[in-house]
Amino acid sequence: MNDNNKIVIGNLKMYGSRASNQEHLGLLKKDLNNLKKTHVGLCFPYPYLFQAQSVLEGTQLGWGSQNVAKSDNGPFTGEVSASMLQDFGCKYVIVGHSERSTAYCESNENIATKFKGVVDHGMTPVLCVGETLIEREAGIMERVVSGQLETIINNYGPQLFKNTVIAYEPIWAIGSDLAASPEQANAMCTFIREFIEGANNAKIEGLKIIYGGSVNSENALQLFVLETVDGGLVGRGSLKPEEFIKICKIADQI
Ligand code: PEP
Repeated sequence: MNDNNKIVIGNLKMYGSRASNQEHLGLLKKDLNNLKKTHVGLCFPYPYLFQAQSVLEGTQLGWGSQNVAKSDNGPFTGEVSASMLQDFGCKYVIVGHSERSTAYCESNENIATKFKGVVDHGMTPVLCVGETLIEREAGIMERVVSGQLETIINNYGPQLFKNTVIAYEPIWAIGSDLAASPEQANAMCTFIREFIEGANNAKIEGLKIIYGGSVNSENALQLFVLETVDGGLVGRGSLKPEEFIKICKIADQI
């Protein structure tokens, strides 16, 4: 991803069925396979990865999962490893989504191990970072986000971010209908890049920093037009194919 093009990732959360996915994927394939420059990815629940691979293989659209196990194999009932995701042609793996770190108490250490595993298996991690409303109101959002990034930097070095995606997702904006303002998104995406590139003392090649949290076709343009925002992680806006297509086309026109 060594380019200036935008990237839009859909997070389909725990929705869908084989029948609805078939229709959904068919529409996306028809409308998004000829975008000029935007990278598009769709992150499915695990059972639908085979279906995503069968429908999307050979198209411009990438697919992936919403989580991954920390270990590569072993007695970990219910887990799915990075090599299994690779086996199903996954390109993207969401790591550290707040709906998981809150509900399943995922630590920054766990998230860092998963991030490394995804990179080692040749896939692109989409690392979610962001603060709660209380943390924002206390003015400590930069400290919170830098703490999330530091665990990866301290364990593996800043170069691990090469060709990866970081989604700045303020927790208060996810599922809320209250997206961050362009000023807020710009400030945090700039901060994230400066923090990592500062630790590296140089630019990180291919690092995309995107925004997520109530992105829709009404607010996508004002967020994506920012040079510091390389695209979006889209939850509810990816559940309706027409809406997701609109969002991706907006990204492609910039
Ligand atoms: C998400 O699930 O990552 C997300 C950003 O959700 P929504 O777009 O629905 O706020």
